[in-house]
Amino acid sequence: MKIAFLGGSETVTGSKFLVETNTTRVLVDCGLYQGYKWLRRRNWQPLLLVDVHKLDAILLTHAHLDHSGYIPVLYKQGYRGPVITHRATKELCAILLADSGHLQEEDANFYSKHKLSKHERPEPLYTRAMADKSMGLFETVEYDECFSVGDIKVTLQNAGHILGAASIIIEAEGKKIGFSGDVGRPDDVLMRPPKPLPELDLLLLESTYGNRRHDKTDPFQQLSDVVNNTANAGGTLLIPCFAVGRSQTLQYMLAVLLKAKRIPQLPIYLDSPMAIDVSDIYRRYANEHRLTHAQCYSMCNTAIYIRSVEESKALTEMRSPHIIIAGSGMVTGGRILHHMKRLLPDHRTTVLLTGYQAGGTRGAKMLEGAEVVKIHGKWVTNNARLEVMHGLSGHGDYIDIEQWLQQSSLHKGMPIQLIHGDPDALEGMRDHLRCTTNFDVDIAGYQQIYTV
Ligand SMILES: [Zn+2]
Repeated sequence: MKIAFLGGSETVTGSKFLVETNTTRVLVDCGLYQGYKWLRRRNWQPLLLVDVHKLDAILLTHAHLDHSGYIPVLYKQGYRGPVITHRATKELCAILLADSGHLQEEDANFYSKHKLSKHERPEPLYTRAMADKSMGLFETVEYDECFSVGDIKVTLQNAGHILGAASIIIEAEGKKIGFSGDVGRPDDVLMRPPKPLPELDLLLLESTYGNRRHDKTDPFQQLSDVVNNTANAGGTLLIPCFAVGRSQTLQYMLAVLLKAKRIPQLPIYLDSPMAIDVSDIYRRYANEHRLTHAQCYSMCNTAIYIRSVEESKALTEMRSPHIIIAGSGMVTGGRILHHMKRLLPDHRTTVLLTGYQAGGTRGAKMLEGAEVVKIHGKWVTNNARLEVMHGLSGHGDYIDIEQWLQQSSLHKGMPIQLIHGDPDALEGMRDHLRCTTNFDVDIAGYQQIYTV
């Protein structure tokens, strides 16, 4: 069996791993590159080694675009095989891929209108219509249900990262390989802990937090401090937020804090039709996470839902302190940009970053202390106060991951190829695991081919 590392290697985005036996070819994850321009350029280049007409299936660990966002590109190129994944992942992808297509179209139009592109008529990578059509390829399975693609046996198991997220175990030619997918935490507010792995001949392991530990500060206390400080300053709290997972966690936490009267009754707006739809999916899949039906109900009833553009624009009239949760999480697009354009120059504004900020994104630049931020082609002065909550990450840190491996049935000397990390994180994870475990740990190279 051969594995080619076609993306999500030496970086965090663009996850794609081609698995090939004598008779069968599957692609594990089909993610979009995000962040640095030199990485995003790869979205436009032909995918090496993959002939879409000879690909038997795409297996999808979870719905985040850096794992799923390239599916419509393969559809555009003629791929008509199945995309096999968990039921909840399909529902989330229907929302995320359509939105991704929509944003690509909007970007292309914007660049065309303002003549910001080298190209006469900039084209979107794919359209919303193309993304919708690619959803017709999805087939769903449950966790721990074994199925076959050609001579490959496949099982998805709970990875605890977001709703529907899975580690994928594949078995063929007498060997077993594990793809960790994005691995959650043992103590996540919303998700259950990741399931330990079975015995394997090779593990591809994510390393997002390979060189950082999560903040152990109580996230409820931290959030209540940020809300109270912003309210006392008479300002607005802007929370750029991932529509999937993080928005729901924040809504739930704000509901808990309000109920306990630890924060004032400020208006809270969820200005993201996508996050609103996702919250409904979390409510319907109450069996797949920690919240009860009653907790889901209060999560969904804390914020005022803003769907239309008109309602979103009307928020500019608000003069008293309020909270706006809007996408996107790494400030790369979405409605948060409009609010930032208006509110970043105001020193009473607080921006709260709650998730991982990939290098090259606006979020990462703000973390580095950017005093001006480029939004829609214009430079905006940034006088806002920046707060960061590291404690809400949907990824285990290197100690969480090490403990997850220790709970698993893995044998001494098992090879681990590290993926899905920035270079420092990959090196950190390698050094930590070499020091504390007896696995044979290495960093996977981009476009490397590994034979098991
Ligand atoms: Zn993810």
